[in-house]
Amino acid sequence: MIFKDEEKLSPEYVPSRLVHREEELKLLKSFYSSLLSGGEAYHVRSLIVGSVGTGKTSLAKLFGQTMERESIGRGQRIIYVHINCRINRSLFSVLHRVAYQVGAGTPKRGYSDPEIMESVLAALSRAGAHLILCLDEADILIAEEGGEPIYFLSRSGEDNDLGRRVALLMILRDPDYLERLDRQTRSSLGNSIIHLKEYGRDQLLDILKYRASESFHKGVLDDEVLEFIADIGAERGDARYTLDLLWRSGKFAEAEGVQRITAEHVRKAVASVYPTIRRENLAYLSQDEYITLLACTRTLLGGRTNAASMDVYETYKLLCEEKNIPQKGYTTFWNNLQQLQDLGFVRITVQSGGAKGRRSLISLPNIPVNLLEEELSKGLKHLSSLRP
Ligand code: ADP
Ligand code: MG
Repeated sequence: MIFKDEEKLSPEYVPSRLVHREEELKLLKSFYSSLLSGGEAYHVRSLIVGSVGTGKTSLAKLFGQTMERESIGRGQRIIYVHINCRINRSLFSVLHRVAYQVGAGTPKRGYSDPEIMESVLAALSRAGAHLILCLDEADILIAEEGGEPIYFLSRSGEDNDLGRRVALLMILRDPDYLERLDRQTRSSLGNSIIHLKEYGRDQLLDILKYRASESFHKGVLDDEVLEFIADIGAERGDARYTLDLLWRSGKFAEAEGVQRITAEHVRKAVASVYPTIRRENLAYLSQDEYITLLACTRTLLGGRTNAASMDVYETYKLLCEEKNIPQKGYTTFWNNLQQLQDLGFVRITVQSGGAKGRRSLISLPNIPVNLLEEELSKGLKHLSSLRP
């Protein structure tokens, strides 16, 4: 038997502890502490930014659980609602979900956004509860509908008898999206921004040790094997990828019917995740994704390790002009980049600090840039054979 509890490695599982995120959890709690002492949710809002697998979603959910639990102990009532904007992509859909979750029922047909909000506030008021509303992957909501939904949600109830009962928590992958919010919303976030940096090798090792102890039987994994996984994971700093490798390694060992996970299982796991850059794979891209990927390689030629997404966007626009294809706006371009990341071609990270503030950086960690650039340039003449 390899697995003790395989569920504990599933993507939905929220661990009861987040190693190396203790400070961030404390900070997050401090932003919302007034709710625990019965204060109003007046201007209580914050933002978590960070690239894939830095623990944003888990941090928010663990925070929500903690707040709900602590509010009971203090005779308050806090309801935490986690909305994934990849699923609920419009304000309308978000409001419906919230109404359902706080027990306001399904809004009547034809209700306007403010009317649905009013029914949510009324339900909260009846229950004597405060709501912490988390908008995860808010990039997508902003891409679809601009900054208005955020403005609407962060001000809900401010001039309403039912009171200020809604506190907001936003999660973004790309800090550039902040620019899309109105100045007031942006400045109200003020210092309440938590940037989760990519995990380093030793942090990943600690995460692996903890999560492995929950999910595998004793003796299945040597420290040496865990260190090997941490080394590989550190190339991305992404806990999701790293834990996926751990789980896959376990599955390979299980399939062989052996009692221990070895480095060879890890290698198999790695090979099963990385897509190889072959012509077959490139043929699955859309024309726009193809040009976007080519823009990434062109920007990175000449030994650069990464480039700002805005620089890649400039290259993209030039390429479109050159090839006579319609340029898309930054939002579509960004979605293409996300798609390319999900396919394993590019890696998007968030850089903090400096005069320019935070920005997104694009890199190609798994692929020799010149080879890919060559391959893509060759394929340009067949561009019209790709899906639009
Ligand atoms: P994000 O939302 O930033 O993409 P997630 O919160 O989904 O990242 O985390 C990815 C995976 O890694 C999840 O399975 C999560 O449980 C795990 N994970 C992330 N950070 C930690 C941590 N500090 N300790 C333990 N597990 C973690
Ligand atoms: Mg997430």
